[in-house]
Amino acid sequence: MAQSPVSPKMDPATRDALIERVRFYRDLGLTEFYRRPVDPALLASLDTTTSSHSEQLQGVEEPASLTPVDVDGIDEPQPGSPQTSQENPPIPPRKPIFTPPQQPAITPAADRAAALQLIRDDIGDCTRCALHKGRNKIVFADGSPDARLLFVGEGPGADEDAQGIPFVGKAGQLLNNMIVAMGLRRDQVYIANVVKCRPPGNRTPEPEEGNTCSQFLFRQIDVVRPQVIVALGATAATYLLGQRQPLAGLRGRVHAWRGSQLIVTYHPAYLLRDPRQKKEAWADLQIAMRELGLNPPAKG
Ligand code: URA
Repeated sequence: MAQSPVSPKMDPATRDALIERVRFYRDLGLTEFYRRPVDPALLASLDTTTSSHSEQLQGVEEPASLTPVDVDGIDEPQPGSPQTSQENPPIPPRKPIFTPPQQPAITPAADRAAALQLIRDDIGDCTRCALHKGRNKIVFADGSPDARLLFVGEGPGADEDAQGIPFVGKAGQLLNNMIVAMGLRRDQVYIANVVKCRPPGNRTPEPEEGNTCSQFLFRQIDVVRPQVIVALGATAATYLLGQRQPLAGLRGRVHAWRGSQLIVTYHPAYLLRDPRQKKEAWADLQIAMRELGLNPPAKG
């Protein structure tokens, strides 16, 4: 059940004032609200005092913690009351609130391999989602824990499932070529996927699978802390950015992501099906290279 952010005993005038305050914040573009846990002693004193509305509003915390508050819990004015006019439409219903990304702690370079191993140990012989039923090997990651560039794919295919290493099939060969074209070696970058077990028939991971498994990916990224992340395809972009959007709207620019710069491009498997898009993908990789201060290797 939705939890009301106001005391059920709050008098109507105070509640109206609070609604006005929320409306004012909304007009400023602030639509999501958080509060600290309320001290029961404070609530008790509010219930017994006869303080003015403005004094009572001082007990309402400014946005401070990450505990979501359901603004649906504030009673809407009744139809016909002045507050339902077109100039003052009702407060819109609550949207899903995602925890804002926090800045991850820095793992010293000397501890990164061990920290990644801890994540691998946590995954264990995972049965957290249905994908475990069809897998041969968990595909954790490949590459350097000190990488400045990290690639995120969707999930293992048949070759990866057999070998336990990401991007070793045909799409992996193209990814290797892309890495070399950027002037890097595969062992200088870090490569991981949204899901670590092969989806049957290479289908897109279900939301439950992606949401469950991506928590481990985020921990891996937090340890490596690359300067640049390249999301390969829509699935990687969706789970990293936390929203589903057409690739066209995400490509060609730099997104800020937990202290890294995120660039979105086509998945190599898609490029194998439609090689005409390679030029576009190369333009995206050049953005990554610019951010990393890399020049393409000289031809010869
Ligand atoms: N496609 C992916 O997204 N990841 C792999 O590891 C292989 C193919």
